[in-house]
Amino acid sequence: MYIRSEYIEEAKIDQIQELRPEQWQKLNTSDRCAVLQKCADAIAEFEGRPKDVIVAEMYFFDSKTKGEFHPKDETLKTNTILISHEVLKCDDPYIAFGVLVHESRHAYICHAMDTPGFHPGQEQDIWLKDRQNAHAKSPGRASSEIEKYCDLAQKSLVDRLKKEVHPQQRSKEQLAILLYLCQEKQAALEIQAQKQKDEKERDR
Ligand SMILES: [Zn+2]
Repeated sequence: MYIRSEYIEEAKIDQIQELRPEQWQKLNTSDRCAVLQKCADAIAEFEGRPKDVIVAEMYFFDSKTKGEFHPKDETLKTNTILISHEVLKCDDPYIAFGVLVHESRHAYICHAMDTPGFHPGQEQDIWLKDRQNAHAKSPGRASSEIEKYCDLAQKSLVDRLKKEVHPQQRSKEQLAILLYLCQEKQAALEIQAQKQKDEKERDR
């Protein structure tokens, strides 16, 4: 089954530390592309697809295009997700992650349609009917049922990662730091108390 927002931890996306804004901002576009490759692999693994999608940076002539998924065919040897240079340049990791999730859902749907019995739900009929409207033909984009699936995945995963998963990780780390500081303080107090005790005994 395809990934949904509640499975971010199970798919180990929460463990990709470079997706966090403070880490992402230190990376150049090719490093960021490598981070998105990790995400694509994690999603494919969770979904039970082969990890055979290559994520690559791309300059699009049409500046509105943020990403594209290209299934392998006679000319293209590997399944490919292209992410625009503009998106990779952006210091907000959630924009790039969202595009990656959107294109990964295209990869899932393609794989499901080419692999009978892979997808457990009924949606396959809708996807098959909609196939001629698929991503490459961008005029059909807004009305396409497949696009709705991809947009929904994009929105829900980004929302949860940004508003729940990462903030929870941050507050856990802050708690750990606070705890550490408290323990240090406690230890210092104990040392001080012991010193005073020793001094008293010496003065006696
Ligand atoms: Zn799309």
